[in-house]
Amino acid sequence: MGKMGAEIIRQRGVIMRAKIIDGKKMADGLLEKAKQEIALLARPPCLAIVMAGDDPASQVYVKKKLDACKKVGILSKDIHLQSSASEKEIIGAVNRLNKDDGVDAILVQVPLPGTVDEDRILSEVSPGKDVDGFHPLNFGKLALNNSELIPCTPRGIIHMLKESGVQLSGMHAVVIGRSRIVGKPLALLLLNENCTVTICHSRTPGVGAFTRQADIVCVAVGKPKTLTADMIRQGAVVIDAGTNRQGEKLAGDVDFAAVKEKASLITPVPGGVGPMTVAMLIKNTIACYRLRGGK
Ligand code: NAP
Repeated sequence: MGKMGAEIIRQRGVIMRAKIIDGKKMADGLLEKAKQEIALLARPPCLAIVMAGDDPASQVYVKKKLDACKKVGILSKDIHLQSSASEKEIIGAVNRLNKDDGVDAILVQVPLPGTVDEDRILSEVSPGKDVDGFHPLNFGKLALNNSELIPCTPRGIIHMLKESGVQLSGMHAVVIGRSRIVGKPLALLLLNENCTVTICHSRTPGVGAFTRQADIVCVAVGKPKTLTADMIRQGAVVIDAGTNRQGEKLAGDVDFAAVKEKASLITPVPGGVGPMTVAMLIKNTIACYRLRGGK
C-alpha cells in the first residue's frame, strides 16, 4: 500500500488502513502509456465529439476529453450544435462522421436536449466507431461478454478495482443505479467478472438491506450522501461514480468522510472515477482505430 491517500482507522481494536484509490494517478499512468502507443501508430487516431446545447457540466466534460486527446496525440473534432438542434440535424452530423474516413471514433455527449430521442441518435453511430459502447450492438455484445468497446466509466471502475488488488470472482457486488452510462453496464461487467450482482434503483425499497451484505458497493445515482456509513459493512470496497456540483466544490454520491472510516478501499470525488473515465475514452479511441484496420 502506498503512503499517498492512506489513512489509519481502527477496526476491532486493530489498526487498519483504509486505502483511498488514487484515480488521477492511475489515469495519468494510463495516459502516458497511451501516448507511447499512439506515437508508434501509422497515423494519429481521430475522435469526433458531437455536443448539442450548452449544459455547463457537459462543457466541462468535453473540454477534459479534448484536453486528454491533445495530451496523448489523438486528433479531435469538436462538433458543437445549438440546443435547438433537431433530431434530424444531430443524426445528420453523426452520419457525416460515420462516412468520414478520417474519423475513427465518435462520441455523442449525453444528455442531449430533452426534445430529441437519445436512443435513436446513439443507435445511428456506426458500431465500429462507437467509442462509448452505447450502440445496441455493442451493448448486446457486452451482455454476451464479447464486446471490444465497453462504456468508459464502468470500464474504468473495473480497471481500478483490479489494479487495487480486488479479486472480483465470487464477490457480492451491489450497484446502485441502472443507467445506460454507468449502472447497467457496470453490473454486466461485474457479472462477467464472476461477481454475484445485485442492482438497486429508485424503486428499490430499503437499499441499505442490500448494501450491508455487499463486499463491493458501487454508487451511480447523482445524489450526495446516497450511501452512508450505516449502509455498508466493515471492510467493504466502495466506488463512487457520482459527480454533484455543490457551489464551487464537487461531491460524490457517498458520504465520504464517514464511509472511509469503515471501508477498506474507497474512491474519492474528485480524483477517482472521473479521470479514469477519460483514460478509458482514450483506450477506446485506440481500439476504434485498430478495429478499422489501423496499424
Ligand atoms: P442517471 O441516468 O440519472 O441514473 C441514476 C440512477 O440512479 C437511476 O437508475 C435511478 O433509478 C437511480 N436512483 C435515483 N435515485 C435513487 C435512490 N434514491 N436510490 C437508489 N437509486 C436511485 O444518472 P447517471 O448518468 O448514471 O449518473 C449517475 C451519477 O454519476 C451522476 O452524478 C453523474 O454525474 C455521474 N457520472 C459520472 C461519470 C464520471 O466520469 N465520473 C460518468 C457518468 C456519470 P431509476 O432507474 O429507477 O430512475
